[in-house]
Amino acid sequence: MFVCSGCSTANQPVYDVADQNRTWRHLNFFEYPCYLHSELPRTKCEKCGKILRVNVPWAINPRHYFTLNFDALVMTMAKDMPMNAIARLLGEHDTRLWRILHYYVEQAIEAQDLSHVTKISTDETSSKRGHNYITIFMDADQKVVICATEGHV
Ligand SMILES: [Zn+2]
Repeated sequence: MFVCSGCSTANQPVYDVADQNRTWRHLNFFEYPCYLHSELPRTKCEKCGKILRVNVPWAINPRHYFTLNFDALVMTMAKDMPMNAIARLLGEHDTRLWRILHYYVEQAIEAQDLSHVTKISTDETSSKRGHNYITIFMDADQKVVICATEGHV
């Protein structure tokens, strides 16, 4: 029995097993990469009538290749390291790791409450000898970055 991933109704019976063998990359076990393998059943919900793959508690969704712990490691490392260095260290392609970063940044942007902001301040900086500008918008009272974007004003 599983929870319907569409409407969250509990105790739904297994309809079938659509994915015979799904794999997720987890944190390394000492120096060895560690993977989770699982079959993922689908439920036919008695309430909403949808046939859906069950969610897994270890990843943001069943199609996401990495576990939540692996995502957390990448996000922590991304605060201090360039993504290509993280990719090299973890033995993953940086494109996959950028997807993790973009997912969580989009979630954070959606969760932002800007209703209290009354004043903003902007600043711009450049890298590579002035060819790549970044403009930063801040909540002037809270001193918190609201948005950073390429280009300058
Ligand atoms: Zn349902």
